[in-house]
Amino acid sequence: MKPAGHSEDGLDALLRDLGIGAERMTRRGLPRHTEAHQLAPAGLGPDGRDKFLTPATRAAWTAMRAAAQTDGIALLLVSGFRSYAFQAALIRAKLDRGMPLDQILRINAPPGCSEHHTGRAIDIGVEGCAALDEAFENTTAFAWLQRHAGAFGFRLSYPRGNAEGYLYEPWHWCYHRRR
Ligand SMILES: [Zn+2]
Repeated sequence: MKPAGHSEDGLDALLRDLGIGAERMTRRGLPRHTEAHQLAPAGLGPDGRDKFLTPATRAAWTAMRAAAQTDGIALLLVSGFRSYAFQAALIRAKLDRGMPLDQILRINAPPGCSEHHTGRAIDIGVEGCAALDEAFENTTAFAWLQRHAGAFGFRLSYPRGNAEGYLYEPWHWCYHRRR
């Protein structure tokens, strides 16, 4: 699968439309993340939608999930790849509900800056814990990930006090490479 609407020109238009100026991103020192060129289906998420990851990420995720399963932990793939346009729509929906842009950008990266664009970032969930909630930190799934995710090439992207200024995201892991 190739992401639709893959274009850096399109990205500028999305940022303009959301009122996110270049200086805001420079000020916070947000790294750019470009959209993946190659994606593979990685199964259904708890929302019933197909999730996509790069082929290498999918292989690592599949192996890690299987290993967790043998330890009695069922990891769920809550989110994978997101396009620039999808990220912009997430932010637009919050703006339309009256949330201030600064507050939104502590939670959601501007289009072009989300690690989910790369197809290597995953949000992990587990039964009995609300998705994308800090309470994930207290689950046995999180304890398992802290011990084992590194061996599968996954790293926690946004620990407490992260340099990018995002809120702590114990559920968000990014595939770098297997150790
Ligand atoms: Zn995430």
